[in-house]
Amino acid sequence: MSTPFDRVIRGTLVTTNAILRDGYVAVRGDVIAAIGQGAPPPADETIDHGDRLILPGLVDGHMHTSSSTGWPGIESASRSAAAGGVTTCCDMPYDVPVPVTDAAILADKVGWVERTSHVDMALYGTITKTGGVDAIAELAAAGISAFKLSTYEYDAVRFPRIDHPTMLAAFREIAKTGLPCAIHNEDQELVEKLTEQARAAGRTDPIMHCRTRPPLAESMADLEIFEMALETGAHVHIAHSSIARGFELAEQYRAMGATTTGEACIQYLCMTEDDLIRLKGFGKCNPPFRTAAEVERMWQALVADKIAYVSTDHAPWPIARKQFDDIFACGAGLTGLQSFAPLMFTLLEERGLSPTLMATYCAERSAQLHGIWPRKGALRVGSDADLVVLEQGDFTFDQACIVDRPEMQWSAYHGRKMRARVAATWQRGKMIWDGVSVLSQPGDGRFVRRG
Ligand SMILES: [Zn+2]
Repeated sequence: MSTPFDRVIRGTLVTTNAILRDGYVAVRGDVIAAIGQGAPPPADETIDHGDRLILPGLVDGHMHTSSSTGWPGIESASRSAAAGGVTTCCDMPYDVPVPVTDAAILADKVGWVERTSHVDMALYGTITKTGGVDAIAELAAAGISAFKLSTYEYDAVRFPRIDHPTMLAAFREIAKTGLPCAIHNEDQELVEKLTEQARAAGRTDPIMHCRTRPPLAESMADLEIFEMALETGAHVHIAHSSIARGFELAEQYRAMGATTTGEACIQYLCMTEDDLIRLKGFGKCNPPFRTAAEVERMWQALVADKIAYVSTDHAPWPIARKQFDDIFACGAGLTGLQSFAPLMFTLLEERGLSPTLMATYCAERSAQLHGIWPRKGALRVGSDADLVVLEQGDFTFDQACIVDRPEMQWSAYHGRKMRARVAATWQRGKMIWDGVSVLSQPGDGRFVRRG
C-alpha cells in the first residue's frame, strides 16, 4: 500500500499572513498536496526541520545571469540561487552577445535554461534600439513574464536607451499584451553631463558615482515613463527605485488611472553612500546607494505597502571588473542571490518586523507581477513545492560561501552579521540545497511561462 504523500516536510511555516509552529507541508509529485499543523499524515518519507522556518521559495523578480558571460552564466548563477533559497529567478534580457529581442532568441535562451539551470526561471524580453516594436507580440506569446526597457544606454546593442517615440509605440503594443514593462529609470543627459564634469575636475573617486546619479536623475525618468503609462494604458514598473519618491509617484499616477508600480532592491533597504566609499567598486550599482535618511523613507514605503516587491538585481560581474580606482570604469551591479534570504530576514528582525513580510515581498508579490502565482511564490495546496528553510542564529556572511564561479565570489555584504542562514532549499518537492552542498544538477530547472 502506498502512502498518500511522497514526502512530508516539517518545521515552522511562514506564510504571508501567519506563522504556524509545528507545521508540515505534504508533497505529492511536484506540488504541495496538504498543509497543516500537529501530527503529520503518513508519507513515504518524513523530513523534520525542527523549529526552523519554512517559507515559500523566493522569487527573485530581477536579476542578470548573462550580462558578463552570456548564457553559460545561467548555470553558475542559478547554482548560487539554489544555495540562497531562490527557487525562481526572473532573468533580465540584457545578455551578451545578444539581448532577448525576438521569439527565436528567446527559444535559444529557454534551451539554455532547460539544459543548464538549477532553479526554475521566468524570462524578460526587450526590444532592439530601433525597429523592435514589431517583435513585442511574439515575445509575449512565447511566454516571457515581463518586458524591460531603459531610459539610459549602457550599450547600443545589449542595453540601449529607447527614445521617447519608440517607447511610446512600445508601450502601446505592450498594453495589448497585458504584460508589465519594467524600466531602468535614469536620465541619460543629466548623468552624462554630471559624469563629464566630474571627470574634467579629476574626480573619479567612489562617492562621485552617487553625485553623478542624483535622486533627480531617477525621478525625472520616473515621470516620463509614468506620463507615457497614463497615455497608453501599459503597466509601467520602475525596475529599481532607490528613493521613496519613486513609489509616491507610482501611487499618484495610479490615483490618476494609470497602472504604475515600482520595485525596491534589497540594497536600497540597507546600504548607504558610506558603504560605497568603503566598498569602492564592489558597492557600485545603478541607481547608487543613497543616504541613511532615504533608507528610512524606503522602509516607511515598504511598511505602507507602496512597494511592489523586493528583488536583488543580482549582476555578477567578475572581480576584475570591480577593482578599478576610477569608479566610472567599474561594472555596475552587485551579487545578491545567496545573501537575499538571510539579509531580508535579518533586516526585518532588526526592525522588529515579521518574516511574513519576506513571504509577501520576496515571493508572493514578485510571482504575481510576473504572472506565475500561485504556481510559484506561495505556500498553498496546488502550488509547486518550492521552499526555503531558514535556521536562526548568529552568523556572519562570508563571500567565500558563494557557489558561483570563483571570479564571482564577492559580496557587498561580506562580513555582515546575519540572523539566519539558508539550511535547505526545496524545488518542486526535491531538496536542491542541504545547507552545505548544491544537490541539483544543471538542467533540473525549468522555464516558467507566464500565465
Ligand atoms: Zn537590473
